[in-house]
Amino acid sequence: MIRALIFDVDNTLTDFMRTKRVAVESAVEGMIDAGLPLGRDEMARKVFDAYAAEGWEDQRIFDKVLKKELGAVDYKVLAAGIVAYRRAKSGSMALYPRVHLTLLTLARLGLRCVALSDAPKLEVWLRVVSLGLHHYFDEVVTSADLGAPKPAPEPFRRALKILGTKPEETLMVGDWAERDITGAKRLGIRTAWARYGDTHETKDSGADYVLADVHQLIEVVRKENGLA
Ligand SMILES: [Mg+2]
Repeated sequence: MIRALIFDVDNTLTDFMRTKRVAVESAVEGMIDAGLPLGRDEMARKVFDAYAAEGWEDQRIFDKVLKKELGAVDYKVLAAGIVAYRRAKSGSMALYPRVHLTLLTLARLGLRCVALSDAPKLEVWLRVVSLGLHHYFDEVVTSADLGAPKPAPEPFRRALKILGTKPEETLMVGDWAERDITGAKRLGIRTAWARYGDTHETKDSGADYVLADVHQLIEVVRKENGLA
């Protein structure tokens, strides 16, 4: 019997990489417009390489790339990049198809949900609120609430405590097998892997269920709970 769900946020509910791609491409165009003496594709590639190396939540990536490529930060170019990035980001933040429908249906079925993300607290809330998801979740647990990121047990224990459910009554939904699925499984939480959000070329997630679309969660819950 599944009574509650824990949702990862980036690449599970939000199409994070799509947003990032659109925002970075706009930022590069903004920087070129302000005088950046590098090609569009070349600069975009360098920014993505820097994110991959420094972390996708790094808020100083453009400073770092500009300094590395040009030896110093041209603040006119940096500002143009940040402005274009922010504009594009807020306009391109998107949910995967059927996320709203799925969360609404889960609520109608009487299931409780929390969101669980390793991203910085304010960043997670900005995404959740701007996409209108904040009413679906009892709480949003973020890295700042805990000492350790997934797959450590603390975030999952915190989520279970909020939900008031046992591990076997709870379903973790996430795209990152090594963090979301492994961490949940260790505590006996049921797992559904968001294959549609996979960015790690995962072969075997080890999850109880594999989702090609988030809405398949409804079938999973119906099956687990003996509903027609
Ligand atoms: Mg994720």
